[in-house]
Amino acid sequence: MSHQWPSETAFRRVDLYVRDQTCPICDARLHVCSHRRRRLFTLQGPCLLVARLGHCPDPDCQGHRGTVSPLEEMGIAPPRLMVGWDVFAWIGHRRFARHWSVPQICAEHLQRLAACIDRGLEAVEEVQDELRPQVEQIQAVADTLDPARGSQEDRRREFEELRQNFSRQPDSFAQHLVRLMTSFLAGLFLGPVDELPRDNLDLERWFRLPKGHERRIHGRCHAGVRLVHEGPTLACALDAHVHHLGLFTATELAPYRSAQPPPSQQAALARHRLMRKARSATQRPDLLADLEQRYRNLS
Ligand SMILES: [Zn+2]
Repeated sequence: MSHQWPSETAFRRVDLYVRDQTCPICDARLHVCSHRRRRLFTLQGPCLLVARLGHCPDPDCQGHRGTVSPLEEMGIAPPRLMVGWDVFAWIGHRRFARHWSVPQICAEHLQRLAACIDRGLEAVEEVQDELRPQVEQIQAVADTLDPARGSQEDRRREFEELRQNFSRQPDSFAQHLVRLMTSFLAGLFLGPVDELPRDNLDLERWFRLPKGHERRIHGRCHAGVRLVHEGPTLACALDAHVHHLGLFTATELAPYRSAQPPPSQQAALARHRLMRKARSATQRPDLLADLEQRYRNLS
């Protein structure tokens, strides 16, 4: 069962070892040969199970090729399921002993979740109170960078005013903001120059290399190559939910039927196709002939 865990999930780690276990064929003591990591739902919260897998150290024994799991693993969760025994039993009891419907079980689970969220918010209340004004300050700076909010000159003046304001404030956050704003100032209000990449993401798409920036946004060590080529636009109607709360009806979705990916994404795909042709030994001569023809037509 696969499940996409949010990248910020805090897992409780449980380490399992092969202890005093012997090879089922030759009775030799098992050696640890690899690890299996499983993420589980348990009633205590998300849990990361790291199980050391053992195998027989004798290369001539049949047990050398297979692996043996720690015995405790079976006590924590059923094989291949994403829930621990406690959640499994909790659902099973309500479904089969009390004959609850599935939606009723889901609702009960959601109530438990709501209580967890409330507890979490209570725990970080102080930190949030401290962060809220800082978020407002950052938002004020971000607004000056949005081209939709006025001309470049106006926005540059607002940016400068904010910088002066912050530099008069004694707290360390404002001072940090001033240093950041000063270091970025040189390039912020230039351009835009057509056909040149606008931001870091565009740059990475242009050079077709997943750099740290895209990776950090993505939240995984490996940023998929599609993500880098095409950007974050998974579907043309992806941002529709921003302007529309609740469920969509067919008529509301109809305008998105003929939507196109943004031009930068189409250009990135065209470059990608071109580079793939250039790498192919069979397609390269055609490509070179085509490029030569285009060059001649220009001159
Ligand atoms: Zn063996």
